Amino acid sequence: MSENGSQPARTPDKQNPARSLDAHVDRYAQRTAGMTASEIRALFAVASRPEVVSLAGGMPNLAALPLDSLAAEVSHLVAQDGQVALQYGSAHGVPQLREQICEIMALEGISAHPDDVMVTVGSQMALDMVTRIFCDPGDVVLAEGPSYVGALGSFAAYQADVVHVAMDDDGLQPEALRQAIAEVTARGGRIKFLYTIPNFHNPGGVTLAVQRRAEVLEICAQHGILVLEDNPYGLLGFDGQTYPALRSTDPDNVVYLGSFSKTFASGLRVGWVLAPHAVREKLVLAAESATLCPPTLNQMIVSRYLSTHDWKGQIKVFREQYRERRDAMLGALEQHMPEGCSWTCPDGGFYVWLTAPEGVDTKAMLPRAVTQRVAYASGTGFYRDQLGSRQMRLSYCYPTPERIREGVRRLANTLTEEMEL
Ligand code: PMP
Repeated sequence: MSENGSQPARTPDKQNPARSLDAHVDRYAQRTAGMTASEIRALFAVASRPEVVSLAGGMPNLAALPLDSLAAEVSHLVAQDGQVALQYGSAHGVPQLREQICEIMALEGISAHPDDVMVTVGSQMALDMVTRIFCDPGDVVLAEGPSYVGALGSFAAYQADVVHVAMDDDGLQPEALRQAIAEVTARGGRIKFLYTIPNFHNPGGVTLAVQRRAEVLEICAQHGILVLEDNPYGLLGFDGQTYPALRSTDPDNVVYLGSFSKTFASGLRVGWVLAPHAVREKLVLAAESATLCPPTLNQMIVSRYLSTHDWKGQIKVFREQYRERRDAMLGALEQHMPEGCSWTCPDGGFYVWLTAPEGVDTKAMLPRAVTQRVAYASGTGFYRDQLGSRQMRLSYCYPTPERIREGVRRLANTLTEEMEL
């Protein structure tokens, strides 16, 4: 601190340039240029104030978890198997958990061998590892527009270019996929994979129609494009319906990502990747250099939970809870939103994607919304190319139905005022 209590200026330290903050900035690798703060993360601080109804974040609602019996299991685990649970493990992940993961994937038609599963620190790590092994700077990744912020962050970190493919209410449009491939190929671009979230899309809220799935796979196979299928919400369909995973139809050309974050506990950071054998080998090497191994204790907690608890019953509880919240949000949107707004109607998952009338800029409007005590995620964060300025993502997963109704009412007032400006 300087004498008057203010921070000293960040000028280079001439005696010791290595200690100057600016000098460190100059040394960053080029790839860090793509690492910018996510708009959504920046919003969390404001949105977490208690008076603000946050429709911004995608936090699962864990209130329904059986915490007492989980605490007993964790305690038992450490007492009985502590020397294993607290030790390093294999980079592939705990064998019993990998077997259980195969049983879970079978619910979506996937037939897999535990050897082809690698456990990761959430599916976010899998996204990073897959991008790390496939993408050189300038390579192209195709992704739905809009797409998941965390995936866009990984692609940017490895300096891959994202080309968005349009969606409609039935998910990714095969014709738009064909066009994007033709366009990139014509300009000599190298497409490394198609990144897709087929079920209960984040942030789109839509699901890829079953009849489109074969078409998307066929197009990718025809053009030698790998598919990266990201499926954290697949078991959260409100009517209990599951869709056939893309991986179930074309195991040799699909890398599949799964997670326990939305169906059990996001804080344990346990996800997985199922990949064709050779790809999995490379992923294990990449993962070893990143983390040595995923946390053994957390994997064993998940594994024990799966073998001692009615996890399918628990997912049903989550589904019912999220359905009630989805209904609260759709009902309130119908009741309060001004003319000219439209939105998606999700059959599962956490999100509604809202389009405001022409002229509204949702990013510019956000500070006014926060003043009116409601927050959302503005649309541009879900694109690489500044599209989405009229859109916003509304999450119904975390607030109670009453708070959701109040939040939507406040948002509708903000929008109405914005349109009158
Ligand atoms: N993919 C998608 C589509 C997501 O929505 C999320 C979490 N919001 C993730 C991956 C990452 O999930 P985790 O790392 O918690 O498994």
